[in-house]
Amino acid sequence: MRASLADQACTLAIGIGANLPSPAGEPLATLLALRPLLAGALAAQWGAWGLEGPRLRWSPLVCSQAVGGPPGQPNYLNAVLLVEGDGAPQSARAEQLLERLQGLERQFGRERRERWGPRSLDLDLLWWGELRCSSENLVVPHPLWTQRAFVLAPLAALRGDPIQPEWPQPLPGCPGWPE
Ligand code: ATP
Ligand code: CA
Ligand code: CA
Repeated sequence: MRASLADQACTLAIGIGANLPSPAGEPLATLLALRPLLAGALAAQWGAWGLEGPRLRWSPLVCSQAVGGPPGQPNYLNAVLLVEGDGAPQSARAEQLLERLQGLERQFGRERRERWGPRSLDLDLLWWGELRCSSENLVVPHPLWTQRAFVLAPLAALRGDPIQPEWPQPLPGCPGWPE
């Protein structure tokens, strides 16, 4: 599955995941606390580019089993955020966005110990329009997003597309989380 042309043309997508407590609490508390901060960071970044703040579309939350990494990890809480705004996708801008995302990861206590290890917050830049870039710090589109059910299911929910039975299912009604 790949993003539709409309999605590719005008949006940036951010994958969100957590499976360890953060200073805000359990993963649900983390994601609830993250939402206004991520919205504020994106508005600030668009403002720094001299552009109006982007429109945000938050997927439902899904609960997924860890893929890869050490065995026995707690389940993840995942979501995808679609960001629709003016401004051409550019690799330099994408690097600036990644810095903001990593700043938020640090704010929520993210530590990197082992590949695909458990984490209090993970924010991945999945794609941005048709941008293609590959540097030491940043590869866009994210090379694995089309293979990850914890990304595909939230995206399908956002679009009103069918969610495959083997994918993680949207959590019913999480107070405070927009669907
Ligand atoms: P995966 O990228 O497979 O989902 P991960 O999220 O566990 O794995 P991290 O430890 O969070 O990986 O990040 C490792 C490095 O990946 C980061 O330091 C970052 O610079 C880099 N990176 C490259 N491309 C991206 C991207 N599109 N979004 C976020 N980080 C990226
Ligand atoms: Ca990731
Ligand atoms: Ca990451």
